[in-house]
Amino acid sequence: MSAETEVRTGGCTCGAVRYRVEGAMRPVIACHCGQCRKTLTNYSAFSAARRGDLQIENAEGVTWFESSPGVRRGFCRRCGGALFWDRTGNDFISVAAGSVDQPSGLRQVRHIYVEDKADFYELSDGLETFPQDHGDDQWPEDGD
Ligand SMILES: [Zn+2]
Ligand SMILES: [Zn+2]
Repeated sequence: MSAETEVRTGGCTCGAVRYRVEGAMRPVIACHCGQCRKTLTNYSAFSAARRGDLQIENAEGVTWFESSPGVRRGFCRRCGGALFWDRTGNDFISVAAGSVDQPSGLRQVRHIYVEDKADFYELSDGLETFPQDHGDDQWPEDGD
């Protein structure tokens, strides 16, 4: 009856920062906003973990950049690998989906901020799209 606790690990490109998540992770949301475009070469794909489920090893290896008031993006200070997106007050922290060790077992479910996307690619995977935010700050299992 008891579900086995999901455990995932991940980290940056160079391996200086590693993390471990014990608990469910949110489905992946692709964000096409201007900040993600500039920071992450094109668009971002973020899952999320409840704060208490995330353990960051070598947390001092993470540099935090305040990208908006109350929002900070965490990346490896050595290799620049994107790792976290963290809004003050959320009980979860967004985790760069590409940084999760494979196989992640995660699924991408939607695209947000598509009105801000770059002009050199199209979305054709059939997933739902939203011009701006939708559920970015929510944990779907909590209900909309
Ligand atoms: Zn690194
Ligand atoms: Zn974004």
